[in-house]
Amino acid sequence: MADYVLAIDQGTTSSRAIVFDKSGSIVSSGQLEHEQIFPRAGWVEHDPEEIWTNVREVIGTALSRANLTRHDIAAVGITNQRETAVVWDKTTGKAVYNAIVWQDTRTQKIVDELAADGGVERFKDTVGLPLATYFSGTKVKWILDNVEGAREKAEAGDLLFGNTDCWVLWNLTGGVDGGVHVTDVTNASRTMFMDLETLSWDQGILDVFGVPASMLPEIKSSSEVYGTVAGSQLLRETPVAGILGDQQAATFGQAAFEKGGAKNTYGTGNFLIVNTGEEIVRSKNGLLTTVCYKLGDAKPVYALEGSIAVTGSLIQWLRDNLGLIKTAPEVEELARTVEDNGGVYIVPAFSGLFAPYWRGDARGAIVGLTRYANKGHIARAALEATAFQTREVLDAANADAGVDMEDLRVDGGMVANDALMQFQADILGIPVIRPKVIETTALGAAYAAGLAVGFWDSTDDVTANWAEDKRWEPQMDGAERDRQLRLWKKAVTKTFDWVD
Ligand code: ADP
Repeated sequence: MADYVLAIDQGTTSSRAIVFDKSGSIVSSGQLEHEQIFPRAGWVEHDPEEIWTNVREVIGTALSRANLTRHDIAAVGITNQRETAVVWDKTTGKAVYNAIVWQDTRTQKIVDELAADGGVERFKDTVGLPLATYFSGTKVKWILDNVEGAREKAEAGDLLFGNTDCWVLWNLTGGVDGGVHVTDVTNASRTMFMDLETLSWDQGILDVFGVPASMLPEIKSSSEVYGTVAGSQLLRETPVAGILGDQQAATFGQAAFEKGGAKNTYGTGNFLIVNTGEEIVRSKNGLLTTVCYKLGDAKPVYALEGSIAVTGSLIQWLRDNLGLIKTAPEVEELARTVEDNGGVYIVPAFSGLFAPYWRGDARGAIVGLTRYANKGHIARAALEATAFQTREVLDAANADAGVDMEDLRVDGGMVANDALMQFQADILGIPVIRPKVIETTALGAAYAAGLAVGFWDSTDDVTANWAEDKRWEPQMDGAERDRQLRLWKKAVTKTFDWVD
């Protein structure tokens, strides 16, 4: 009897495999970081081969740590960094170029060219997204335009495209020997190519981008059996039965199934997702419209999303580029050496600004510096930047919904930071709640897979398993909150118009 489900979380900084039991608790895990490749300013790549090797290795680690074999695993779920584009040759199984990561801004020129005819919102009614470097569409086009021979091979039907879920699934199910080329609706909704209503590829948009439809994976639901693990792999014959993009997976793992249910994930970037039920809500305030999940034959559930490009990666920048701290958690200690931010604000517009501004022309700024400011203030301002950006996307979500959120469920690597979470509650003016299992991303993918094979019966099981760990109540007075927000918004305006 298989008592567990294994989730593969192919993230931006690492790949993890986590084994969950029926109560949604972690039984064991494995994790490996992969190289972040920065060939030029604004370019970010990953090596797809390294990712696939790491995924196989972490599966082995997770299984062996708990002494499990494939017979113990009822199903495999996949969650992934979304929008990161891989293009590979189906005859050799090799990627034709490194994966172009969601943070990469090299395609700004393509965005500008496409926007010249109809503006950045040209496809928004159909796909829910503005034209931006963020989504996979312009990245695929860049590969076809710039990698020698790629366009010819694509037109001959030899190349396949997918986000990393698709790359992992294809390899896991056999690669050149019959790998399944499928993605789920949530990943497809991040390409710029999928019609939100029909959940199919839009040929008109593909023609504008010059991307052959033969490269694209088949779009399936987030919870069904896509195939089984190939005979050559450790988990051979195990059904692969769930795929959710990382933010949608976290929403699922946080049991935000009701219309209005929301979560905010604090990782490399921050992503607020608000469930809008079966309704496709078009944002008037700079949010994205995206698919939240689709369970088998059931109707799709949609969401509004506030994506923030840089939050945790600003802490990495303090560590790696400035050397102010040795590890990310040390930022809290450094920030606590000062009473307040000393008037310093950091706007980390490293790859432009995402929601709610969508300014590809913005670049980062540290403002409000005086001779008094020290590294403690910089650390504090870096943490506060995460909270201010979150406040701005939450305001946008409240405006779109017409009702104010009453509290916020949080998860991700940064929620271990108590100072940040308190400041977040202060700046939002509502309680911030952390669940017991903060690996909600992997958990969500596990649930999607487990539901498809009957390991769990319904989303009620997910809701029953969710439990609160800690809650932060707002303590700041309203006038101070307003003052801080006003200064933050002023700081943001200083980043505009920096790219020639
Ligand atoms: P991802 O899934 O995007 O790879 P994680 O959820 O693992 O990210 O979170 C890692 C991010 O959180 C890193 O960018 C790191 O800088 C940041 N981080 C980790 N611990 C802390 C902490 N205690 N305080 C602030 N930031 C942290």
